[in-house]
Amino acid sequence: MAEIRFDPFSQDYIIVNDKRLKRPIIAEKEDDCPFCANSKKRHPGLPLQYSAISIENLYPALSMDNPSEKHPFDVRTLYSKTNAIGRCEVILYSDDHELLFYNQPQSLTMSIIELWIQRYTELSQLKKIKYIFIFENRGSHIGVTIHHPHGQLYALSIIPPKIIRELELTGKYFKSTQKCLQCDIINEEKRENKRIISENEHFIAFCPFYSKWLYEVHLVPKRHVTNLSDLLMIEKEALAIILQHVRKKFDKLFNRPANFMMMLYPSPVNAKDYSFHHFRIEIVSTERDGIKQKYRAGVETGLNIWTNDISPEQACEIFNKIPD
Ligand SMILES: [Zn+2]
Ligand SMILES: [Zn+2]
Repeated sequence: MAEIRFDPFSQDYIIVNDKRLKRPIIAEKEDDCPFCANSKKRHPGLPLQYSAISIENLYPALSMDNPSEKHPFDVRTLYSKTNAIGRCEVILYSDDHELLFYNQPQSLTMSIIELWIQRYTELSQLKKIKYIFIFENRGSHIGVTIHHPHGQLYALSIIPPKIIRELELTGKYFKSTQKCLQCDIINEEKRENKRIISENEHFIAFCPFYSKWLYEVHLVPKRHVTNLSDLLMIEKEALAIILQHVRKKFDKLFNRPANFMMMLYPSPVNAKDYSFHHFRIEIVSTERDGIKQKYRAGVETGLNIWTNDISPEQACEIFNKIPD
């Protein structure tokens, strides 16, 4: 059974699941793509035509079938662990293997956003679930084996330490200033006006002052919105527009689909009140110069200190030179 182990030196969690090594597929072409209609290896039960649907991951890192324990992460033991409870889903954007996100109809992007919200809302009803992480790994340098347009969802029975740490810091900021850190950062970005790459009435996208990757963009609602499900219709439309605009910039950087990770950060579910949290989406690319990739190497992995070879202000300039 898959388990989550606890590193007592760093407080990190490790999902250990040796069944996932057997994940078979490298599907560059439609012939052997599990998400294409005419493929020999088609995912069981998948409709021939579809847009914005979610399916269960056949090789999940987490499972709701794993039993709950009386003492998860028992701190009295040296080697603390718990069963890997949760759910892993694949979020298929479209039945078109070649469709590029930035080029797709805006109505499809809206359907994908609605699907994110629907899965987030439904899975948050499960009392065991504490954090719902929606993300997309894109490109072979991120380890993607299936190149059909899709994202993923992990519904976790734990709040990840990174999220706990962030909520502690933003909670402290809120307590001492009565203000939201992200709202203040939006105001500062607008005041300085040298890292903004896209903006509309309800959303702003910028290369943060504290970028860890050469090409890193945060997309943030201008209103203080805690979760995906709190977005108004007009804000969802604004998100669809800015998301396609930003993703186009990434794909035009080196005139090919960029390697990146897109990650959505809502607040935890079935937990205490985190209404001071401000929802955001991050897109971080491993691209360096169109040929080489940036890796999370010794200093980043060993010390969690990041080295960035261009400033976010410079990255913003490069993004803004790309014609719309
Ligand atoms: Zn496909
Ligand atoms: Zn805020």
